[in-house]
Amino acid sequence: MPERKNIALVGIGKIAVDQHVPALAASADWQLAATVSRSGTVDGIESFADMETMLAARPDIAMVSLALPPVPRYAYAEAALRAGRHVMLEKPPGATLAEIHALQTLADAQGVTLYATWHSRMAHAVAPAKAWLADKTITRAHITWREDVRKWHPGQDWVFEPGGMGVFDPGINALSILTEILPAPVHLQGADLEFPANRQTPIAARLRFSGNVTADFDWRQTGPQTWDIEIDTTAGHMALRMGGNVLELDGQPSQGANTIMDEYPALYARMAQLVAEGRSEVDLAPMVHVADAMTLGKRVVTDHFTF
Ligand code: NAP
Repeated sequence: MPERKNIALVGIGKIAVDQHVPALAASADWQLAATVSRSGTVDGIESFADMETMLAARPDIAMVSLALPPVPRYAYAEAALRAGRHVMLEKPPGATLAEIHALQTLADAQGVTLYATWHSRMAHAVAPAKAWLADKTITRAHITWREDVRKWHPGQDWVFEPGGMGVFDPGINALSILTEILPAPVHLQGADLEFPANRQTPIAARLRFSGNVTADFDWRQTGPQTWDIEIDTTAGHMALRMGGNVLELDGQPSQGANTIMDEYPALYARMAQLVAEGRSEVDLAPMVHVADAMTLGKRVVTDHFTF
């Protein structure tokens, strides 16, 4: 087996602990060699509270994976790229589109890989759904992405601060699947955004796109959670359920799509492939839709929200 390359994981919080650390422990390509976080650490791994100190102390670290929220992420990404390290970004890739363009330009100039990950695109049924849709004519599509913010983001006030994206933090996962599987792109034509009276970002959003495509995102759903994409075509009905993990064709589960695949191991394997090929992968299509919704959306004020 080839030697594993050293990486540093930055922002030791919920997703780092839930997904990145276990995925790295099982990775054939990457060895978690350091962490950078103001307070978080991982048992047995050298920890730094400051990015520049880590970059200076550990020239052996080839890649930096950034698992912190989008607003503080840019400065860390820029520092890593300037230090000649490959960089992997959590979703959404940044707080603005322009800053990600800037990172891509810097990565190209430095000759390193920048990978803007979309973990939901690695869900088990996304590739089969894309293949099935490739030669179909779509007549309607609807996304229902309804979950409980208190369950998935307990106490994370940053999601309701400017740049935290509110319900688009999960909704962009649905948009990452939509933009991956549709045979032709769509564009946003209208949106209603519900903002809690005491918050800066929406807690619910209803989106209307060209091509008869609509979306319903809501962060107030308790009980069973819904992550569905339904698509009507002239050749039948397709549904992607469980966040892209289950494919149904005309109401019947499609073969081979019922097991849950680990999305984060697939992201790290993809990063290894990109580095080996000397390429970057930065697809901003999901974030363009969010930016357009924020630009075009009608603001509706709703009830105060507290965790
Ligand atoms: P989180 O737990 O709130 O934050 C991750 C860590 O980032 C924190 O523990 C904190 O570590 C560091 N951090 C937070 N604010 C910072 C700041 N202003 N400056 C520097 N460091 C800061 O967030 P998360 O849920 O892991 O989400 C992080 C990213 O992963 C987001 O982009 C999110 O969309 C994505 N994601 C989350 C989930 C999920 O289920 N939560 C799932 C998939 C993807 P220190 O205090 O130690 O510095």
